[in-house]
Amino acid sequence: LGAAATLWELVDRRAALTPDRPVLLQGGRRLTFGELRDRAERTAAGLYAKGVRPGTVVAWQLPTRIETVLLTVALARLGAVQSPVIPFYRDREVGFALRESQAAYFAVPGEWRGFDFTAMARRTGARGVFEAYDSLPDGDPAALPAPPASGTDVRWIYWTSGTTSDPKGVLHTDRSLIAGGSCLAHALRLSGDDVGSIAFPFAHIGGPDYLVMLLLYGFPAVLFETFALPDALDEYRRHGVTTAGGSTAFYSMFLAEQRKQPGVRIVPTLRLLAGGGAPKPPDLHRAVVGEMGCVLTHGYGMTEVPMITMGSPDDSEDDLAHTEGRPPAGMEIRIVDGGIRLRGEAVCKGYLDPAATAAAFDADGFLITGDLGRLTDSGHLVIAGRVKDVIIRKGENISAKEVEDLLHGHPAVGDVAVVGLPDDDRGERVCAVVERAPGAADPTLEQLTAHLRAEGLSVHKLPEQLEVVDALPRNETLRKVLKYKLRERYA
Ligand code: ATP
Ligand code: MG
Repeated sequence: LGAAATLWELVDRRAALTPDRPVLLQGGRRLTFGELRDRAERTAAGLYAKGVRPGTVVAWQLPTRIETVLLTVALARLGAVQSPVIPFYRDREVGFALRESQAAYFAVPGEWRGFDFTAMARRTGARGVFEAYDSLPDGDPAALPAPPASGTDVRWIYWTSGTTSDPKGVLHTDRSLIAGGSCLAHALRLSGDDVGSIAFPFAHIGGPDYLVMLLLYGFPAVLFETFALPDALDEYRRHGVTTAGGSTAFYSMFLAEQRKQPGVRIVPTLRLLAGGGAPKPPDLHRAVVGEMGCVLTHGYGMTEVPMITMGSPDDSEDDLAHTEGRPPAGMEIRIVDGGIRLRGEAVCKGYLDPAATAAAFDADGFLITGDLGRLTDSGHLVIAGRVKDVIIRKGENISAKEVEDLLHGHPAVGDVAVVGLPDDDRGERVCAVVERAPGAADPTLEQLTAHLRAEGLSVHKLPEQLEVVDALPRNETLRKVLKYKLRERYA
């Protein structure tokens, strides 16, 4: 099935194979593969009657629920260009996304979790606003044109997290998403007997990747409109979830729950936690594996290439703990001057902004990721941070990640971000911003310096400035630290 040209072809073939198996579970509701196909086709007909055609740009800002997946598949059936927007985003980001993508339609949930999305859509001047929460557009599939034949036209505009600058609109095709989802499925060694979960926003690039995996193997996922522990554990136990995941924050949440009941497996059926997209702090891996009794695989991905490398249950514990896994077949990785470059079917076609696209690819067609890393002898990738995260002090390059990793070992440090601040004498100076550990007293610069020296860090890399904060500024999707805000604040 992984050879399917389009997402719709994949849905159609899976529905023919196992029409009665469930694909989506939410609360007391369930949808089968056959129903997914049939209902998405009716929704596509309803959208067609509204004026949506192949190539029409339709943005949507919807929570993770059955109707949202149906809308996604319906748009894929039509060959429309869809632009998912994360539900946390408000006027500024939404207005930006709608303007940049020139969306002709915008689907919203109406009022959701105390916020009026329809009113916001009007404020931003959105065109073609319609609600897609309890009900979806509906029509007679007989009126539909043929499904799209090609999987290599741009049909998705995804938004990067905006960690380093304004979010960028990333152009994907059905084939690039199917390639990403197939790779993920292979790495994780899942099967039709698994039960998964989508606990992160489906509007994130991981959403369609996960859907591709469900379609390839024919297993279901439990969906969460809002994900909160410990409530979600009841759902996990009720459906016998075998594999769950998200970002690093997800593992920490699970571990905190597990620590309330040491020795008891909080979800007895859970055997694999899988995630990625953000650094995993040292020690978290071992703590999760040791205390929760399940495999943890972590991977490297970005909006431009949702699945680059992934740990596999077949990897050694050491590789799982210290690397981001290996690239799947078909993903070429080149390290140039320490920077990671990628080529393969899962790589995006570029950005909405043609100038950004021109700057992003090298002469051989490799995407320049902006991340630093190296490949081990066994072909596992180790990430060394972002190019923008290298601090240049008196002409010497300092990896923020190296200093951060060592600071994590100090008991008063809950989390930490190391940034370079402009400095007249040194070019940049090293500043550590520490989120204090729960219950710990504020560490001093002297204490942290002593710790770093004891760990063997060379003197020129030692932080010269310390800021202790209650909470680091983070983005809403993956809880990644927004270093540009720290640079602005402390410069
Ligand atoms: P923007 O591009 O708008 O600045 P962003 O790069 O954070 O934001 P995403 O596409 O969501 O937007 O994130 C991809 C980035 O996340 C990668 O380029 C990399 O820097 C980081 N990342 C992803 N996976 C990992 C990982 N396993 N370990 C460390 N960093 C990771
Ligand atoms: Mg990026």
